[in-house]
Amino acid sequence: MRQSIIILGAGLLGRLLAYSLAKKNYQVAVFEKSPLEHQQSAAYAAAAMLAPLAESVSCELPIVHMGFYSLTRWPTIIEELNANIFFQHNGSLIIWHQQDASVARHFQTQLHQVEQHLDQQYARSVHLDTLALKNLEPNLSPAFGEGIYLPNEGQLDNRALLDSLLKKGLELGVTYNWQSPKKPSDFPTNSHTWILDCRGLGSRPQWQALRGVRGEVIRVFAPEVQLQRPTRLMHPKYPIYIAPKKDHIYVIGATEIESEDQSAISVRSTLELLSAAYTIHSGFAEARMLEANAQCRPTLANNSPAIQYLNDQTLQINGLYRHGYLIAPAIVDATLELIETGTSHTARHLAIQIQENHANID
Ligand SMILES: Cc1cc2nc3c(=O)[nH]c(=O)nc-3n(C[C@H](O)[C@H](O)[C@H](O)COP(=O)(O)OP(=O)(O)OC[C@H]3O[C@@H](n4cnc5c(N)ncnc54)[C@H](O)[C@@H]3O)c2cc1C
Repeated sequence: MRQSIIILGAGLLGRLLAYSLAKKNYQVAVFEKSPLEHQQSAAYAAAAMLAPLAESVSCELPIVHMGFYSLTRWPTIIEELNANIFFQHNGSLIIWHQQDASVARHFQTQLHQVEQHLDQQYARSVHLDTLALKNLEPNLSPAFGEGIYLPNEGQLDNRALLDSLLKKGLELGVTYNWQSPKKPSDFPTNSHTWILDCRGLGSRPQWQALRGVRGEVIRVFAPEVQLQRPTRLMHPKYPIYIAPKKDHIYVIGATEIESEDQSAISVRSTLELLSAAYTIHSGFAEARMLEANAQCRPTLANNSPAIQYLNDQTLQINGLYRHGYLIAPAIVDATLELIETGTSHTARHLAIQIQENHANID
């Protein structure tokens, strides 16, 4: 008999797990709260930058390792999906205005500290003088006199990925149930069925340590701008990034607010994000606003992900915070190993937390 899998949530983890398990011949059914045409996930709003080193100054070291591991996994996943998904592994850039040089120096010191803990195999950060910066990113405002290049970073087109995972999953026989909010206890447990709870912040009634961290992003069409790689602006008050997607689409983000408010983007955040983008490239003044999104990142106490046993056949996978795309392949590989063998080499190797939960609140 084929083992069946019930997945709650069709965000990033839900879709990647559904596809990965269907490929291994499991019988998979996904239940998602939102309708297909009105997606309400962090996955849909995200910029999908894959930036282990840039993130390293503000996250736990295992996340950096999960990120480098996942950067090697994404090309295979994308190739298997056989779809035209924009994926770039072309490095990222850190820049700052001269008056904020002290913020950049602090960042660089933190970066060097992390680099000491990384294997030699990972490319290091490179300091760029004016000429090197101009050669790397010729279209950048001349106001920037120096920068830091992180060669081993990338990004992908999250929406094309989500669409392809759905399509390929359906082809492999996954059943998707839209507008179907569920919780694990809605399903009887038995030894032939696994339940995977991937509801992001929606899991909070069953995982009290979860909290939301609001993020706001703006998508623009900016034909006058030609940035080639994700670029971060160091700033004491308004640190932002710009992720260039295909066809002159740029994602400008993201605020980081300790709040579970999922209402529309505020005027303040809009002003801050767009003003900062304009200082990076004046061509953003003539850009056309396509969207402004606000979503909450599902976050656990130490801002690190965890896989939790709710019971023998139910796993909750959550807390991907601002690193979902950066680390999802690592988390999914670990989950598959747990389902198939009851243990996970990947989780041990990458220090992914696996824990028991005896405090299920239904
Ligand atoms: C503004 C923003 C920018 C980001 N930028 C990046 C980035 O550049 N790089 C990066 O790596 N990460 C980024 N992230 C983080 C990334 O998007 C998340 O870590 C990731 O989406 C988490 O995946 P998930 O599947 O756990 O949750 P989600 O993607 O949120 O999916 C959860 C799904 O569960 C559904 N659900 C909720 N309740 C129920 C229920 N009761 N029943 C059924 N379904 C339910 C929801 O509708 C949703 O579809 C960003 C996030 C935000 C908000």
